Amino acid sequence: MRLLLLGGTGESRELAEALAAGAAGQVDVTLSLAGRTQTPTPGPARLRVGGFGGAAGLAAFLKNERFDLLVDATHPFAATMSAHAHAAAEAAAIPLLRLVRPGWSAGTGDDWTAVPDMAAAAEAVAASARRAFLTVGINELDSFARCGGVFFLVRLIEPPAAPLAFADHRLVLDRGPFAVADETRLMREHRIDTLVTKNSGGAATGAKLDAARAAGIAVIMVDRPPEPALQQVATVKAALDWIMDKSHDRP
Ligand code: NAP
Repeated sequence: MRLLLLGGTGESRELAEALAAGAAGQVDVTLSLAGRTQTPTPGPARLRVGGFGGAAGLAAFLKNERFDLLVDATHPFAATMSAHAHAAAEAAAIPLLRLVRPGWSAGTGDDWTAVPDMAAAAEAVAASARRAFLTVGINELDSFARCGGVFFLVRLIEPPAAPLAFADHRLVLDRGPFAVADETRLMREHRIDTLVTKNSGGAATGAKLDAARAAGIAVIMVDRPPEPALQQVATVKAALDWIMDKSHDRP
């Protein structure tokens, strides 16, 4: 059985590893990445990199390459890819599963402001922050360029192609998982009063929220974009079970 796995997350890598370990010979996996990072972590699955050319391009790819299953394990904020996956799976009449980790939720001691999008996050920063830690990814930084008088600590995975458009900022390059002690040290060193993050969920980047809670730092939490209604699981194990069920159902 041929499976196309839309990736770019830790979960997609874990699923590819679990399939290689437990279903080798039964499920032939191709992992698809958008190609945003120059150095994707090597894994066990066959890799293809780059866009498909929209939903129609993905539908044609699924048919031409004779895939039997599609698993969308892209990031919770990769809304365009998820919408394309939904449309393409329907057009190609292929079962689709969405694997998406649960979001974070505020608990006792948290000082969170939930906002619907990056524009609203930038408004909240302009209204209340003096020294903000931006952990929103390179594509979202433009929204904050007009927040005058704010120092930005910006964390990215890879160096930006052009200098950042902030008058007062510091850039750190790092890739998770992050530890609470390191997040605490980083935010203390830069006297951060506000953390801005997408509600990505997951343990790998959740330590900044523990550090912010303990230090009394405000959090501006950008809500997830809506997902197309479809069959969804929250864990790699549940996705693996779904794939194995489908493989046993095959004639
Ligand atoms: P997006 O806005 O939803 O997608 C934009 C376009 O990128 C898609 O239409 C598709 O191009 C291409 N694309 C996206 N994911 C792809 C994949 N796995 N394989 C092949 N093409 C893909 O996506 P995004 O938010 O830029 O995210 C890009 C990648 O980074 C995804 O793999 C995602 O899982 C990962 N990621 C995103 C975030 C985030 O905050 N958005 C964070 C961490 C990781 P075509 O229309 O040409 O097919």
